Amino acid sequence: MRMDLKSLALPGVQHLQPYQGGKPLDELERELGISGAIKLASNENPLGLSELAKVAIEASLENGARYPDGNGFYLKRRLAEKLAVSASQLTLGNGSNEVLELLARGFLGQQHNAIIAEHAFVVYQLVITAQNATAIVVPASSWGHDLPAMAAAVNEHTRLLFIANPNNPTGTWVSLASIKALLQELPDTVLVVVDEAYFEYVDQPGYGSALELIDDYPNLVVTRTFSKAYGLAALRIGYSVSHPDVADILNRLRQPFNVNSPALAAALAVLDDDDYLRRSIGVNRDGYNQLVTGFDSLGLAYIPSAGNFIAVQVPGDVSAIYEALLRQGVIVRPVALYGMPHHLRVSIGLPHENQRFLDSLGRLLVDRDTA
Ligand SMILES: *Cc1c(COP(=O)(O)O)cnc(C)c1O
Repeated sequence: MRMDLKSLALPGVQHLQPYQGGKPLDELERELGISGAIKLASNENPLGLSELAKVAIEASLENGARYPDGNGFYLKRRLAEKLAVSASQLTLGNGSNEVLELLARGFLGQQHNAIIAEHAFVVYQLVITAQNATAIVVPASSWGHDLPAMAAAVNEHTRLLFIANPNNPTGTWVSLASIKALLQELPDTVLVVVDEAYFEYVDQPGYGSALELIDDYPNLVVTRTFSKAYGLAALRIGYSVSHPDVADILNRLRQPFNVNSPALAAALAVLDDDDYLRRSIGVNRDGYNQLVTGFDSLGLAYIPSAGNFIAVQVPGDVSAIYEALLRQGVIVRPVALYGMPHHLRVSIGLPHENQRFLDSLGRLLVDRDTA
């Protein structure tokens, strides 16, 4: 009898559910015999790569045979200046997902737990479980994080508490004041990780970056990414801002060349591409209004979102609607995995993409009602 190889893996790893990405667009089109499909499934920037980033990436390929600058010297210097922090507080990651993973690897063992919210970004659960640590999932309140309940769930074994602000896939957000109140209440043995992947898009009263609190709370960690408003999802680059001691731990754990040269160059370029960022935000705001106006006229409930996506409630069989949208070349994201079996998450696209999604969805709902 052959050994069951999977049983050799660490217990936490055996329990992981692999992250479900979508099929490549080309493959999907081939299978369905369609063309011109649109992807509104991964919260990517619909503007495509910034021209300044493209030029910087091409230039970086000159040195493509060399290892990247493992310390990200220029990017950290520019980020430190822009964020008014010290470079020693920064940790660069292969996407901010890597930074989230480094936090779990550095601070969680099997005797520890981490606090997350119901419907929160799945990566938290993944990185906690991989450490054999326990995820304590705190019920959401109106789809959002219930910070007082999360604080109440902390015990002496808690090392991390994750706040997605805004959260994906719900789009919900919490105020800066409520984060401050949480930090005041918690012992500083609990690292509070505020994931600000969608920070640039947010325009909500009471919202503010937790970076404002970074000097006052050594146990605060803020993560950001270049994947969303800055449009560099393929390049894989994100970072955290923390106390230098936390950054030191993360920097010991990471691979020496975890961020590649094109990504470093692109991030540096796009940080100063104010026009791109302004257009990202503008297209997103207009697209949000277009989509929610469409949902209202279709009589569909949605969760108000501060990000670049919206979770919309679809009556009846959600996976049938999802599949039917796919066959029409409109790719969105089912979110049953997040405990939201009645919603689909749609990323905000260009005006014609949003319209095509609304038209397809509207037709499907009518067809079904008249079937
Ligand atoms: C997209 C996203 C990230 C960023 O992922 P990257 O690894 O930086 O591409 C982080 N947190 C949340 C909540 C997200 O939705």
